[in-house]
Amino acid sequence: MKRVMIVMGTRPEALKLCPVVLEMKRRENLAVAVCSTGQHRDMLESTMRVFSVRPDSDLDVMRTGQSTAGVTARILDRVDEVLEADRPDLVLVQGDSATAFASALAAFHRGVPVGHVEAGLRTYQLRSPFLADFHFAPTLTAKTNLIREGKPEKSVFLTGSTVVDALRFTLRQTKATPGWGFPAGARILLFTAHRKESFGEPLRGMFRALRRIVEAHPDVVAVCPLHHHPEVRRTAAEVLEGCERIRVVEPPEIVSFHRLLAGSYLVLTDSGGIQEETTALGIPTLVMRYSTERSEGIRAGCLRLCGSGEHGIVQATGRLLEPDSAEYAAMRRPSRVFGDGRASVRIVNLLEHLLK
Ligand code: UDP
Repeated sequence: MKRVMIVMGTRPEALKLCPVVLEMKRRENLAVAVCSTGQHRDMLESTMRVFSVRPDSDLDVMRTGQSTAGVTARILDRVDEVLEADRPDLVLVQGDSATAFASALAAFHRGVPVGHVEAGLRTYQLRSPFLADFHFAPTLTAKTNLIREGKPEKSVFLTGSTVVDALRFTLRQTKATPGWGFPAGARILLFTAHRKESFGEPLRGMFRALRRIVEAHPDVVAVCPLHHHPEVRRTAAEVLEGCERIRVVEPPEIVSFHRLLAGSYLVLTDSGGIQEETTALGIPTLVMRYSTERSEGIRAGCLRLCGSGEHGIVQATGRLLEPDSAEYAAMRRPSRVFGDGRASVRIVNLLEHLLK
């Protein structure tokens, strides 16, 4: 039996790797061990619980006020200890977090092959990661990026995004949309902003835009789940204070969050994963960034870039909120560009084959 160690540390990693864990547990010739680094403990654990996935090892790496370098170094060190004790045949990581990077590096140093889920996402404004042996690309664009960067073709596999698998799982759990006490018929605008690149004036501008949009449209209510980062909390409190139709809430756990997404009229976000989810659901989304590594969703019509400037956000949102907006209607279409809900099955099939 081949042993696979799956490492996760943040909410999106748990969301996108738990479907793979569940699929692996169905296979007789693979043993799976889940290692949690605890990088974002609360959000990580609540997401794992939804899938009934429990960590076999917990590295508990977070310390108050630590730097990204500190957490990365600690993960590298602790993952190495787990690798020494467990000796897996392969380590599976997802995305581009400190957990994914440091775990892949630890495995690389020990000569343990690394599989990378959601490989090949690029804005080409970042350096590309280089540690994986097997690249599981969610889309054809991602696969093409990897091959163009010189990854051997036989190491790159088109699987679809496991977020679509996760979405199917969560939407099966309940039909109830969280009751936020909104008046019937209100159009729900879901707003999330948390990227470090935006901290400071751009983030303040995003929140100001939200406030102006809601104040200009009496039938619009906004839900604004607040990321745990203190900078996000401080800025939101300063700008959104006292606006009645903006509900600032703790980040809903994933089942409620997906229900909320599915019930929204419009989404404004700077998140990566949410772009895939709204594209799969067909919920029109304005991405508050100037570039995206999820350009497939733009080509599919569901996503649009509006930049992170206050004025641009207000303008673009205003157009979509106009009554009978043709632009809005054209965006409200689900698409399978990010996957068909079977990415985990494909990834685990490939691993069975590759580890033979
Ligand atoms: N999410 C959630 N609750 C929230 C906000 C987001 O469960 O309040 C989920 C969301 O469905 C998405 C994931 O968290 O799949 C995205 O996480 P985030 O935006 O933190 O990271 P990114 O995708 O930008 O790396």
